Amino acid sequence: MPTVFEVLGGDHLEVKRMLAELESGPTALTGANDSQLGLRKKMVEELIIEESKHEALEEMYFWPAVRDLLPDGGGWLLAELGAGTAEQADAAAQRVAGDFEHARVLGEDEAPQVWAIRESGLGATARVPGQRPTWPGWEDSAVAPARLGDYLRELRTLCDRFGYHAALYGHFGQGCVHTRIDSDLASTEGIATFRSFMTEAAQLCVRYGGSLSGEHGDGQARAELLPLMFGSELVTAFAEFKRIWDPDAMMNPRKVVDADPLDANLRLGPHYRPRQLQTHFAFTEDGGDFAQAVSRCVGVGACRAHSGTVMCPSYQATREEEHSTRGRAHLLFELLNGDELTGGWRDPHVKDALDLCMSCKGCKHDCPVGVDMARYKAEFLSHWYSRRVRPPAAYTMGLMMYGARLASAAPGGSGTFFVNSAM
Ligand code: SF4
Repeated sequence: MPTVFEVLGGDHLEVKRMLAELESGPTALTGANDSQLGLRKKMVEELIIEESKHEALEEMYFWPAVRDLLPDGGGWLLAELGAGTAEQADAAAQRVAGDFEHARVLGEDEAPQVWAIRESGLGATARVPGQRPTWPGWEDSAVAPARLGDYLRELRTLCDRFGYHAALYGHFGQGCVHTRIDSDLASTEGIATFRSFMTEAAQLCVRYGGSLSGEHGDGQARAELLPLMFGSELVTAFAEFKRIWDPDAMMNPRKVVDADPLDANLRLGPHYRPRQLQTHFAFTEDGGDFAQAVSRCVGVGACRAHSGTVMCPSYQATREEEHSTRGRAHLLFELLNGDELTGGWRDPHVKDALDLCMSCKGCKHDCPVGVDMARYKAEFLSHWYSRRVRPPAAYTMGLMMYGARLASAAPGGSGTFFVNSAM
């Protein structure tokens, strides 16, 4: 289908105006003009990358191809317009873009490159060298699109008051905001601050008539806050209704009703003290900290795709979590945590999970947060085999330089022997 992209530069203050244009402007993406133009869909997305996060964006493999397509700015609003023909879609985009100072209309061949920025939102904001890691927490809130600009400005002010930095991206056409915030979830004081922030953010969202969860579930992360949105009378009714159908609380207990506190089962928590193990690799992107490297995985599950990506061939063959990038990352996290896995570098569960990893580097390229399992595996195996006999293949490949010298000295039989033995 013919597609035209427009990319609007500037900060989120322009979002509201842009949306107003889309609702009532000359392109009139709803009502009668839909049929006139044959428009099939509209989609508005925004990725706001703070200046401080640009460094991470520049690390992305697609950045050189995209850099010159974007106007200057701290963030970009992307809108996709579909139409019956390329000319119609292009004309509609030109009319909308004409009202903005910093706007570009791009052709359909440029579209996939630009969308890669939106898809990189998580990766570009989760781990930025030299900055604190960010966490979901206040992820996925939503307000009516017409009120989005005001909501975002107040959310920014709230983050500033708590000393938080938040990168914002999401489906702004639907008013849904994704964000990761650099909250401290590993100390008692930090978690108390996080709890206060979550409560105030929920009050803010409700004041705008919004929802605490735009497209994902409330789960445990926000269930405690649901009375703010629905009122305690309605939440009590939820609980009574659930008790009728599930009197023994067998189904999804302590999630939406009778929920655990939002800070009850944090992955890190106040007692998180990962083992500080000596490593051969520097892990400079993660502050030289192997624990930070293996906790990059945020559980998106892109490594569990069954086709269409390089990542992760061992999962595609086995369909088992422990043989996915995510499963391996979590086992390494537990190795360092020491609660569930106690064997350290000699833990057989981790060895088993890494055995089928092909070190193909697919995850380093395709994983949105850049988990580099091939490197973690090399680190683990160097310790696993320390003062142990390695498999024969490790010696034939690892000592290849001696074989190569032998082959160059006698380029007849020894070369043939070397190649055959190496195979
Ligand atoms: S390096 Fe290992 S974990 Fe990563 S995609 Fe390849 S097989 Fe999967």
